[in-house]
Amino acid sequence: MFDAHCHFRTGDCIFRTGELLPQNISKDYDVGLVRSSEIGLDRRFSSVLSMDRQVEILKEILQYAENNGIAVTLHCVRETGLMLEILGKMNFEPLTVMWHGFTGSAETAARLHGLGVIVSLGLKMSDRVAELYRANPYIVLETDYEGCDFNEYTRELEAHYERCAAALKMSVNELEKRCRELTNAFKN
Ligand SMILES: [Zn+2]
Repeated sequence: MFDAHCHFRTGDCIFRTGELLPQNISKDYDVGLVRSSEIGLDRRFSSVLSMDRQVEILKEILQYAENNGIAVTLHCVRETGLMLEILGKMNFEPLTVMWHGFTGSAETAARLHGLGVIVSLGLKMSDRVAELYRANPYIVLETDYEGCDFNEYTRELEAHYERCAAALKMSVNELEKRCRELTNAFKN
Protein backbone atom coordinates (compact mmCIF):
# COMPACT_ATOMS: atom_id res chain seq x y z
CA MET A 1 0.00 0.00 0.00
CA PHE A 2 1.15 3.50 -0.74
CA ASP A 3 2.56 5.57 2.12
CA ALA A 4 3.29 9.27 1.53
CA HIS A 5 5.97 9.51 4.23
CA CYS A 6 7.97 6.95 6.15
CA HIS A 7 11.41 6.10 7.44
CA PHE A 8 11.12 2.40 6.63
CA ARG A 9 12.23 1.23 3.21
CA THR A 10 9.23 -0.74 1.99
CA GLY A 11 9.38 0.13 -1.67
CA ASP A 12 5.92 1.67 -1.79
CA CYS A 13 6.49 4.78 0.23
CA ILE A 14 8.05 8.18 -0.13
CA PHE A 15 11.08 7.41 1.97
CA ARG A 16 12.80 10.25 3.78
CA THR A 17 15.64 10.49 6.27
CA GLY A 18 15.95 13.15 8.98
CA GLU A 19 19.50 14.23 8.13
CA LEU A 20 18.54 17.82 7.36
CA LEU A 21 16.16 18.30 10.30
CA PRO A 22 17.17 21.08 12.74
CA GLN A 23 18.14 18.63 15.50
CA ASN A 24 20.32 16.50 13.22
CA ILE A 25 21.82 18.81 10.64
CA SER A 26 25.61 18.95 10.55
CA LYS A 27 27.60 22.16 10.26
CA ASP A 28 28.78 21.33 6.75
CA TYR A 29 25.41 20.03 5.53
CA ASP A 30 24.90 19.25 1.87
CA VAL A 31 21.80 20.94 0.40
CA GLY A 32 21.60 18.12 -2.16
CA LEU A 33 20.40 15.81 0.63
CA VAL A 34 16.98 17.44 0.21
CA ARG A 35 16.37 14.72 -2.40
CA SER A 36 16.22 12.19 0.43
CA SER A 37 15.68 14.10 3.67
CA GLU A 38 12.73 15.97 5.10
CA ILE A 39 13.50 19.59 6.01
CA GLY A 40 11.83 22.17 8.21
CA LEU A 41 11.36 24.17 11.36
CA ASP A 42 11.06 22.78 14.86
CA ARG A 43 10.52 25.08 17.82
CA ARG A 44 11.35 22.22 20.24
CA PHE A 45 14.97 22.37 19.08
CA SER A 46 15.49 26.14 19.09
CA SER A 47 18.12 25.73 21.83
CA VAL A 48 20.08 23.34 19.60
CA LEU A 49 19.71 25.54 16.53
CA SER A 50 18.22 29.04 16.86
CA MET A 51 15.01 29.76 14.97
CA ASP A 52 16.83 32.46 12.99
CA ARG A 53 19.37 29.90 11.84
CA GLN A 54 16.66 27.29 11.15
CA VAL A 55 14.87 29.79 8.92
CA GLU A 56 18.08 30.73 7.12
CA ILE A 57 18.92 27.10 6.39
CA LEU A 58 15.37 26.24 5.36
CA LYS A 59 15.24 29.13 2.89
CA GLU A 60 18.58 28.13 1.39
CA ILE A 61 17.52 24.51 0.92
CA LEU A 62 14.08 25.42 -0.43
CA GLN A 63 15.65 27.75 -2.96
CA TYR A 64 18.00 25.00 -4.09
CA ALA A 65 15.08 22.54 -4.41
CA GLU A 66 12.97 25.04 -6.33
CA ASN A 67 15.83 25.84 -8.73
CA ASN A 68 16.48 22.16 -9.36
CA GLY A 69 12.87 20.96 -9.56
CA ILE A 70 13.17 18.73 -6.48
CA ALA A 71 9.96 17.81 -4.67
CA VAL A 72 10.20 18.67 -0.99
CA THR A 73 8.85 17.08 2.21
CA LEU A 74 8.37 19.60 5.01
CA HIS A 75 8.40 19.08 8.74
CA CYS A 76 7.02 21.82 10.97
CA VAL A 77 6.53 21.90 14.72
CA ARG A 78 5.03 25.00 16.38
CA GLU A 79 6.12 27.41 13.64
CA THR A 80 3.11 27.34 11.31
CA GLY A 81 2.99 31.11 10.75
CA LEU A 82 6.66 31.30 9.91
CA MET A 83 6.44 28.33 7.55
CA LEU A 84 3.42 29.81 5.72
CA GLU A 85 5.26 33.09 5.35
CA ILE A 86 8.32 31.41 3.86
CA LEU A 87 6.27 29.21 1.49
CA GLY A 88 4.27 32.23 0.37
CA LYS A 89 7.46 33.82 -0.95
CA MET A 90 8.58 30.75 -2.90
CA ASN A 91 7.48 29.75 -6.39
CA PHE A 92 7.17 25.99 -6.25
CA GLU A 93 5.07 24.21 -8.87
CA PRO A 94 1.77 22.93 -7.45
CA LEU A 95 2.05 19.46 -5.86
CA THR A 96 5.82 19.57 -5.43
CA VAL A 97 5.75 20.47 -1.73
CA MET A 98 4.28 18.22 0.95
CA TRP A 99 3.65 19.26 4.55
CA HIS A 100 4.05 15.96 6.32
CA GLY A 101 2.62 15.10 9.73
CA PHE A 102 0.14 17.93 9.43
CA THR A 103 -1.88 18.60 12.63
CA GLY A 104 -2.93 22.20 11.96
CA SER A 105 -6.24 23.94 11.42
CA ALA A 106 -8.58 23.76 8.44
CA GLU A 107 -7.73 27.40 7.83
CA THR A 108 -4.02 26.58 7.50
CA ALA A 109 -4.85 23.61 5.26
CA ALA A 110 -6.88 25.93 3.01
CA ARG A 111 -3.99 28.39 2.77
CA LEU A 112 -1.70 25.55 1.83
CA HIS A 113 -4.12 24.52 -0.90
CA GLY A 114 -3.85 28.04 -2.28
CA LEU A 115 -0.08 27.52 -2.45
CA GLY A 116 -0.45 24.13 -4.14
CA VAL A 117 0.96 22.34 -1.08
CA ILE A 118 0.01 18.74 -0.29
CA VAL A 119 -1.08 18.01 3.28
CA SER A 120 -0.03 14.61 4.59
CA LEU A 121 -1.93 13.12 7.53
CA GLY A 122 -0.50 10.66 10.01
CA LEU A 123 -2.15 7.82 11.91
CA LYS A 124 -3.76 9.99 14.59
CA MET A 125 -5.48 12.29 12.11
CA SER A 126 -8.20 10.04 10.67
CA ASP A 127 -10.92 11.72 12.74
CA ARG A 128 -10.07 15.04 11.10
CA VAL A 129 -9.56 13.87 7.52
CA ALA A 130 -13.04 14.87 6.27
CA GLU A 131 -12.76 18.38 7.71
CA LEU A 132 -9.28 18.88 6.29
CA TYR A 133 -10.18 17.39 2.92
CA ARG A 134 -12.89 20.03 2.53
CA ALA A 135 -10.28 22.72 3.19
CA ASN A 136 -7.57 21.15 1.03
CA PRO A 137 -8.35 18.28 -1.35
CA TYR A 138 -4.59 17.70 -1.74
CA ILE A 139 -4.72 15.29 1.21
CA VAL A 140 -2.50 12.19 1.35
CA LEU A 141 -1.89 9.57 4.05
CA GLU A 142 1.34 8.62 5.80
CA THR A 143 2.61 6.47 8.64
CA ASP A 144 5.89 8.32 9.44
CA TYR A 145 6.85 4.78 10.54
CA GLU A 146 10.32 4.50 12.05
CA GLY A 147 10.33 0.91 13.23
CA CYS A 148 11.27 -2.20 11.32
CA ASP A 149 8.34 -4.58 11.83
CA PHE A 150 6.77 -5.13 8.44
CA ASN A 151 3.58 -6.73 9.83
CA GLU A 152 3.01 -3.93 12.31
CA TYR A 153 3.73 -1.38 9.60
CA THR A 154 1.26 -2.93 7.15
CA ARG A 155 -1.45 -3.23 9.81
CA GLU A 156 -1.13 0.42 10.78
CA LEU A 157 -1.14 1.62 7.19
CA GLU A 158 -4.16 -0.47 6.19
CA ALA A 159 -6.14 0.57 9.25
CA HIS A 160 -5.31 4.22 8.51
CA TYR A 161 -6.61 3.90 4.95
CA GLU A 162 -9.77 2.13 6.11
CA ARG A 163 -10.62 4.78 8.70
CA CYS A 164 -9.93 7.66 6.32
CA ALA A 165 -11.73 6.09 3.35
CA ALA A 166 -14.82 5.57 5.53
CA ALA A 167 -14.70 9.19 6.72
CA LEU A 168 -14.32 10.43 3.13
CA LYS A 169 -16.96 8.03 1.78
CA MET A 170 -14.46 6.67 -0.74
CA SER A 171 -13.21 3.17 -1.34
CA VAL A 172 -9.74 2.33 -0.01
CA ASN A 173 -8.59 1.74 -3.60
CA GLU A 174 -9.85 5.07 -4.77
CA LEU A 175 -8.19 6.85 -1.85
CA GLU A 176 -4.89 5.05 -2.38
CA LYS A 177 -4.94 5.91 -6.10
CA ARG A 178 -5.56 9.55 -5.23
CA CYS A 179 -2.67 9.66 -2.76
CA ARG A 180 -0.37 8.11 -5.35
CA GLU A 181 -1.40 10.50 -8.12
CA LEU A 182 -1.13 13.63 -5.99
CA THR A 183 2.47 12.75 -5.12
CA ASN A 184 3.65 11.92 -8.64
CA ALA A 185 6.38 14.56 -8.49
CA PHE A 186 7.96 12.72 -5.54
CA LYS A 187 8.83 9.62 -7.52
CA ASN A 188 12.41 9.72 -8.64
ZN1 LIG B 1 9.27 11.78 9.23
